Amino acid sequence: MKAVILAGGKGQRMGELGRDVPKPMLDIGGMPVLEHQVRLLVSYGFTDLTLVTGHLSPVIERHFGDGMEFGLHISYFVEKTPLGTTGALKELEQDLPEEFLVLYGDVMLDMDLQRFWRYHKFKNSACTLAVHPNSHPFDSDLVVMRRDGTVFDVLCKPHPPELYYRNLVNAGAYVLSRRMLSFFKLGVAQDFARDVLPQMCGQAPVYGYQTPEYLKDIGTPERLEQVRRDFESGHLARMNRRFPRRAVFLDRDGVINREAGLVTRSEDFELLPGAAEGIKKLNDAGYLAIVATNQPSVAKNLCSIEEVERTHMKMETLLGREGAVLDAVYFCPHHPEAGHPGENPMYKIPCNCRKPGTGMIEQANRDFNIDMSASFMVGDSDADLQCGKKSGLNPVYVRSSRPVSEKAGHECDSLLQAAEFITGAGA
Ligand SMILES: [Zn+2]
Repeated sequence: MKAVILAGGKGQRMGELGRDVPKPMLDIGGMPVLEHQVRLLVSYGFTDLTLVTGHLSPVIERHFGDGMEFGLHISYFVEKTPLGTTGALKELEQDLPEEFLVLYGDVMLDMDLQRFWRYHKFKNSACTLAVHPNSHPFDSDLVVMRRDGTVFDVLCKPHPPELYYRNLVNAGAYVLSRRMLSFFKLGVAQDFARDVLPQMCGQAPVYGYQTPEYLKDIGTPERLEQVRRDFESGHLARMNRRFPRRAVFLDRDGVINREAGLVTRSEDFELLPGAAEGIKKLNDAGYLAIVATNQPSVAKNLCSIEEVERTHMKMETLLGREGAVLDAVYFCPHHPEAGHPGENPMYKIPCNCRKPGTGMIEQANRDFNIDMSASFMVGDSDADLQCGKKSGLNPVYVRSSRPVSEKAGHECDSLLQAAEFITGAGA
């Protein structure tokens, strides 16, 4: 397997730090960022690497040589003039195999690259980008993705204030098929995400690969410091998919947002006080924050799937404004009791995803690899608490007007209190 790392960046925003050392050679825990990447590639079976260099190229070449010492073959492409993130790939076109991985030399990452590659193959994708939510989606370029992973647009910042979106941004790693280089221009400085990707969408199969694993750029001195802390604490390595993660499953209505009858329109969705703060606490403590909600109003024909998705975009947008991140949102549109007038028969079926069924939790486990016994279910109904128990999660009850008969391990009055309990207990 072949990889290309774009390591020619100048590090203009790094100040003194980037003057004599190329950005990818900055140290994280006793090793340059680039060496962390090279060792990660080797551990996932990559045998061939091209390093695109420019600024201070000899420093990089001296460190890595032909790669033999590291266990793979390294060649170099030295850019005479920096051509954005795409120019070098276009010039390398003849030497590239059918498929290859592209990394940025200033992104520190620890992810399962085999799984990423397999997803690209499985989807018959021509371009697959790693995507994740971040804590500042309002000033990030956003990836617009369908539930099946198809990327159909990139929204570049700034965003209109009334826009609701999924919190998904480009994480800085791609698998590309060589034929996609036809979208790249020779000798023209272009940025892949801003200039090329939007053109590809709609003309070729482009997919997003959502992962909660660690990918963070070291583009400013502050981010470099954060990455160093995450490395030292072991947080960075623990986020690799091979380690089961702790998660908090959240019910939606009555826990995150005000429950005013059934919330069937996005206009009626309103965050509860402290919900964003609570989710942010879970984010900061390293828990995955995952919504699992029953939305039978689809089956009852009170709203469409699209409207549920719009509501969830609003939820992610409102939370994102306060720096709170949801790692995933699962919903069950079904309802088992068929035979009511006006219902939507397609969704009037018994299913395993409707809580207290455990289908949504099982799906999340397939997507994220979750340590159930160290994880929680926060909800305001018997269905939530039963689903939590059946899944091996620790149930936390948020008191509601609805009486419950199920016993929870802990009771509280809000998501914020639940998060304080969970992060206190987890420390
Ligand atoms: Zn269902």
